[in-house]
Amino acid sequence: MTVIIDCVAIGEEIMEEIVKETEELKAKGITPGIATLLVGDDFGSKMYRGQVEKFCEEAGFNYINETHPADTTEEEVIRIVQKLNDDPNVSGILPLRPFPEQISDSAVINSIDVKKDIDCFHPFNMGKLALGEETFPPATPAACIEILERYARNEEKMDPKDFFEGAEIVVVGHSNIVGKPCAYLSVNRNATVTVTHVFTSMKGNLEQHTKGADILIVAAGRPDLIGPEQVKEGAIVIDVGINRVKVLDEKGEPVLNEKGKPKTKTVGDVSFDAVKDMTKAISPVPKGVGSVTNRMLMKNALKACKMINGLL
Ligand code: NAP
Repeated sequence: MTVIIDCVAIGEEIMEEIVKETEELKAKGITPGIATLLVGDDFGSKMYRGQVEKFCEEAGFNYINETHPADTTEEEVIRIVQKLNDDPNVSGILPLRPFPEQISDSAVINSIDVKKDIDCFHPFNMGKLALGEETFPPATPAACIEILERYARNEEKMDPKDFFEGAEIVVVGHSNIVGKPCAYLSVNRNATVTVTHVFTSMKGNLEQHTKGADILIVAAGRPDLIGPEQVKEGAIVIDVGINRVKVLDEKGEPVLNEKGKPKTKTVGDVSFDAVKDMTKAISPVPKGVGSVTNRMLMKNALKACKMINGLL
């Protein structure tokens, strides 16, 4: 019987743990805080900013909103980062990208205090991740690992250490924010890790790798990239992809909404309905990895706060 992993429940469980730890810190006179840095008005970044604000409120964190016009200079943005670096109310700094073109991503990221780099953007922290040293694991891949660890404990009654050791993990996608760090986090747990990407697909080799996976983590941003022929019977599948697609009727025609526009829905990279019954466990989309991602960011902010205050 396939387990449809309840990522929403996992996200809520993590939030309860965060609230409890925050209350303990507040009893010592310490409050964690996250600052978001938005330059311009990119829609996706504004949505993300709003989510972070909401979660900070729920957890009892300070929230610092740094939103600046699109024509802000790079020097000014770096000055804002330095102010946040020095602000004791801020434990974590989250730059919301894309920045306008006059601002270099790396100039901003390199100016963040590595102790407040809660999404592991800074090369120093990414280097520590690669070395298997203690750092702030980036939120999305950390969410994948956290989901697998809780699945191992709750469903397979296994120590996560034994669950990962020697497991054949295949990651689809090698972006710096999801695929690569996911591979580091897995190899640091002694899994056998294969990383695949668009060139693997172009050579026609994707299936040969994914079919060997005990655990398949898919982060490509391509709807229906992974169907039954790419999945091993009994595999555990974590679908990170988030794609907006048109809703089609039984003839394959777009279904229209009341305004006469095509209806859309959110899907992952895995053909969920076609694949789910052959898996041991699978995470859905929506209500999947995304339900845990922001909580991992909050966990990192909590960790940063403890480190800054000498409690870790
Ligand atoms: P990205 O930067 O576009 O990277 C996508 C990766 O997939 C690249 O490494 C790309 O390879 C690879 N790829 C593309 N087409 C492929 C194919 N046909 N076969 C094999 N590999 C292929 O995207 P991302 O930021 O990593 O995000 C990936 C997906 O996760 C997106 O749908 C995004 O919306 C979603 N996401 C979800 C969350 C969450 O919390 N659930 C968070 C972040 C992102 P090349 O680099 O070689 O082209």
